[in-house]
Amino acid sequence: MGKKVVVLPCSGIGKAYGEIGRQAVYDLAEDLKPEDVKTACLARLMIDDPETKAMVKDNFVITVDGCGMDCARKNVEAAGKQVDSSLRVVEAFKKHRDLKPQGVLELGEPGFKLAHILAERLSEEVDCVMKK
Ligand code: SF4
Repeated sequence: MGKKVVVLPCSGIGKAYGEIGRQAVYDLAEDLKPEDVKTACLARLMIDDPETKAMVKDNFVITVDGCGMDCARKNVEAAGKQVDSSLRVVEAFKKHRDLKPQGVLELGEPGFKLAHILAERLSEEVDCVMKK
């Protein structure tokens, strides 16, 4: 069976960009690329869950981080895997400054639009990574 792309968002608790990253990954995995993309909870990687570690090791990996702390990318690398690509939510926001999320718990329409734009950007990245 061919490799899939594991797309891992950071946990980003209390940060709108973390929430947008997660929403974008759901959009990607459930609607845009359900055949090619899998996701998992980053915390499972951090507690050395064998199933999650194997999934990351055996597939391509893209991380999505809510800020420059890059927690998702760093945790994947700490688990011994080089990421194939890493994106930050803020990069999508820089091109769409009109779309300001309303808050962490209520992203509002601008926040969900931004999540969808990021999901489309991720979808392109999945195509690139799968051509490797
Ligand atoms: S990358 Fe930033 S937003 Fe995401 S979990 Fe780390 S500190 Fe939070």
